[in-house]
Amino acid sequence: MTYLREVWYLQCKAGCPAQIPLPNQNPPRKPSFQKYWPMGNGPLILQCHVCGRLSDYSVKDGHPISEPWVPLDQRPYVFQKLTISCGHKNCGTRVVIHMQTERDIPDLDVMKRGLLSRPMPTFSCGHVLTEICGMRVEKIEDESED
Ligand SMILES: [Zn+2]
Ligand SMILES: [Zn+2]
Repeated sequence: MTYLREVWYLQCKAGCPAQIPLPNQNPPRKPSFQKYWPMGNGPLILQCHVCGRLSDYSVKDGHPISEPWVPLDQRPYVFQKLTISCGHKNCGTRVVIHMQTERDIPDLDVMKRGLLSRPMPTFSCGHVLTEICGMRVEKIEDESED
């Protein structure tokens, strides 16, 4: 028997055909799933895993589709959140980039891909992103019900 699940996708804005699924989140006491969107209603910065381009997405860019449900441990991809902190002295500004990667990729490779984004991510403070900037990688797992 095949179960369907509803998934929110973002269509790559750089002109390539990639569709990037957002993890589903099930907040307590909400009957339906909710797409992962940590930025309030602000833009989510996503690096396309196919073309490597970085684009800003707004909540309304998401569109739902139904697809066959696959157990979490059988999904080859995972959604990653890369937080980069400005390396300038006494500046705490951060920029957050998301991307889909293979599930078993080391954190270091996620960081490298982030640094290779085109266009480069920019800090709101105006300082330049360099390799001395602090970086943190978190996997965002899909939380839809099994
Ligand atoms: Zn793309
Ligand atoms: Zn700064």
